[in-house]
Amino acid sequence: MSSVFANLEPQQVWKLFEDICAIPHGSKNEAELRTYIEKVVKAHGCVVKKDAAGNLCISVSATPGCEHAPSVILQAHLDMVCEKNELTRHDFRRDGVRCIRDGDWIRADGTTLGADNGIGVAAAVALALSENISHGPLEILLTVDEETGLTGALHLSPDLITGSMMINLDSENSHAVCIGCAGGGGVTSMYELELEAPKKNYLWRDLWLTGLQGGHSGMNIHENRANAVKLMARLLRTIDSACAMRLADFQSGDKHNAIPREARACIGIPEGKINTMQSCLSDMFDRFKNEYPHEPLLEITEQSVSLPAHCYTQETTRVLLNLLLAFPHGVLAMSRTMSGLVETSNNLSSVHLSGKSCTIHNTPRSSRPERLAAVIEQICAVTELAGGKTIQEPTYPGWEPNPDSELLRLYEQVYAEVFGHAPFREAVHAGLECGIIGQKKPDLDMIAIGPDIRNCHSPHEAVSITSVQKFWTVLVRLLERIGKMKAA
Ligand SMILES: [Zn+2]
Repeated sequence: MSSVFANLEPQQVWKLFEDICAIPHGSKNEAELRTYIEKVVKAHGCVVKKDAAGNLCISVSATPGCEHAPSVILQAHLDMVCEKNELTRHDFRRDGVRCIRDGDWIRADGTTLGADNGIGVAAAVALALSENISHGPLEILLTVDEETGLTGALHLSPDLITGSMMINLDSENSHAVCIGCAGGGGVTSMYELELEAPKKNYLWRDLWLTGLQGGHSGMNIHENRANAVKLMARLLRTIDSACAMRLADFQSGDKHNAIPREARACIGIPEGKINTMQSCLSDMFDRFKNEYPHEPLLEITEQSVSLPAHCYTQETTRVLLNLLLAFPHGVLAMSRTMSGLVETSNNLSSVHLSGKSCTIHNTPRSSRPERLAAVIEQICAVTELAGGKTIQEPTYPGWEPNPDSELLRLYEQVYAEVFGHAPFREAVHAGLECGIIGQKKPDLDMIAIGPDIRNCHSPHEAVSITSVQKFWTVLVRLLERIGKMKAA
């Protein structure tokens, strides 16, 4: 092993992680890593199956005396997010990740590390290769392409796995056990605006609303961060009622899974009304500041621009602004089974105008499919009221927390034996592979666990060395405990 990983425990896990880091394995480029793992486990006598999507299942026989135990699936994803710093030279198709040890942390040199989910893969494969850990029958399920749309899990052939319990190894907090996630979908609303020639005696301004925090549309939605589309629509509606403005452009939001941070609009104001518009800007700025004290960097700026090629009629502009205000945004319901967990939310994620057409995107999420369907229905109904049309993306399922899970009970018991206290239960308001796999295998008892990984998906990603040891200790004990049980 290289000096970075020298003397780290558990040795086998770090050895495998080092090998994984040396093989490029960004999303949709997992073949080489999969072949490497196949080779290693076959040499150890394991049976390997693959499905058409490229997911791999490694069957590991029970150790002597544990043949009648329930069969456990250990699941992780093969792919990693490929992000690097501006100045870092790195070709994710060719180069291995260069690892650095920094106190208790392993990180990469200017790139993502791929501890998400390389540590999970390493731990599962280490169990397959282990000589002195007792366990019942194991199936190690390694999926492809988790990070760019969960497509490995979505196309997983259900016959690939047979176990009754599944431990997902893709969590990022060693103190917690994850027991639920949200499902989601997407709706694009299309609305047609009427064009007119821009009025000559109007003054034209670009308005910028900037400095909002944004963030993940699921994980940060409960923080009531301001949405740039909403704030800009409210600002424009106020200006319109005071000045009878004309709208020439409105752009905001790029990623569907991010809360919009900035918005730009181009408006025309009658010559004599420019002061009125400016007092609207400062009134609304003060209002937003009071409403969102946790958005200290919010700014609204204006800039003179030349006469645009066209603008929109006042009537269709008003319908558009009302439509943007009518869409739901933020937390819509909290979970009744788990306190503090968001059950249902929506992110009004973007608005873009181009010629006559306006395209708006919404990203709803819920851990309950009925609630998800209800939000989508509301988005479609509001769009229809405005005379627009919608296109719905296929939805993906959530994972509803099951506080009575047998696997959860066992995990909490083993964890408490090792550390003297229970882990805390968490569920995430975002999509996980467990939601999708659980829908394909409705009776599967699931939990998700992992070591401490910080700054996932960024070049600051790092994994805590001591937490890997901790994660491994509890995992091994849990498998030993299940190995002593009799399958139902
Ligand atoms: Zn992951």
